[in-house]
Amino acid sequence: MVIIETKYIKNAAIDAGFDLCGVARCQKFPLNRLAFNRWLEQGYDSSLGYMRNYQEMRFDVEQMVEGARSVVVCAVSYKSEMSGGYGAEDRCKIASYACNSDYHKSIKKMLQTLLKVLQQRYPSLKGRACVDSAPILEKQYAVEAGLGWIGRQSLLVTPDYGSYVLLGELVLDCEVDAYDEPMQAVGCGECRRCVDACPAGAIVEPMTIDTARCISCQTIEKVGEGATPLNGWIFGCDECQNCCPYNKKAKSHSNSAFNPLFDPREISAQEWLAMSEEEFSDRFGSTPLKRSGLERIKANINRD
Ligand code: SF4
Ligand code: SF4
Repeated sequence: MVIIETKYIKNAAIDAGFDLCGVARCQKFPLNRLAFNRWLEQGYDSSLGYMRNYQEMRFDVEQMVEGARSVVVCAVSYKSEMSGGYGAEDRCKIASYACNSDYHKSIKKMLQTLLKVLQQRYPSLKGRACVDSAPILEKQYAVEAGLGWIGRQSLLVTPDYGSYVLLGELVLDCEVDAYDEPMQAVGCGECRRCVDACPAGAIVEPMTIDTARCISCQTIEKVGEGATPLNGWIFGCDECQNCCPYNKKAKSHSNSAFNPLFDPREISAQEWLAMSEEEFSDRFGSTPLKRSGLERIKANINRD
């Protein structure tokens, strides 16, 4: 079997536009599976029915890539001037990642570039690029690859870029010459700022989100029962991130694919409510807002 040079992967990942890269062995994560099942039993997935799909694949990447041995975990910062939080007067708030081009496309492209570079040097290598929607335990793999730890708000927190990072993985059918050490430290310490900042009380336990209460889920995914006030958010929610001390001191993004395309503070509720589908598509068609669509945004404004 081909053994891939880890240093080569990491250099190629930086060249492809990522800020961080680590490599972990494929694992089945039995403890995460127990915790995940408990989360489902408690009904915290609410209207996110898809979380119940692909259970076996989620905990065994070999079912996704035959002979899978290694997972290359890459992260890129998207921190921008939109990531610092909003004023109390702002009522059409949008999560900062959604002010950019859709990251699924950008990251998939970066991962495919990386895979191609690796395959040029190792022609027999097979792999699959995964972004967010693929059933893989990406945050836990990021911990195993030494990129960061899972914070109380259930997101990956990295020492230098905080939690304003987007993840992408390559599942490879080869071993590497040096696996990264898992991140042992949990940098949250006694901090509980994200728990206290959540306007919906959705962080029910450390690293456990009740999606029926979470504004991010409530503004984008299907509306669950017992929906909570949206607190001025019309797509996503950054409250548990913009309070985090690691995000305050984090470096801003340097990859231009993550430059904001608009400033939500410049678009009033009246402007949103009067917007036509055509204008929405012209102005926001390349952003994640397309996912929920204009009608949903208008409904979120009217609901709050
Ligand atoms: S995204 Fe918003 S509502 Fe959801 S857990 Fe974070 S602060 Fe709470
Ligand atoms: S706000 Fe505090 S507790 Fe929450 S993720 Fe950041 S460091 Fe951890």
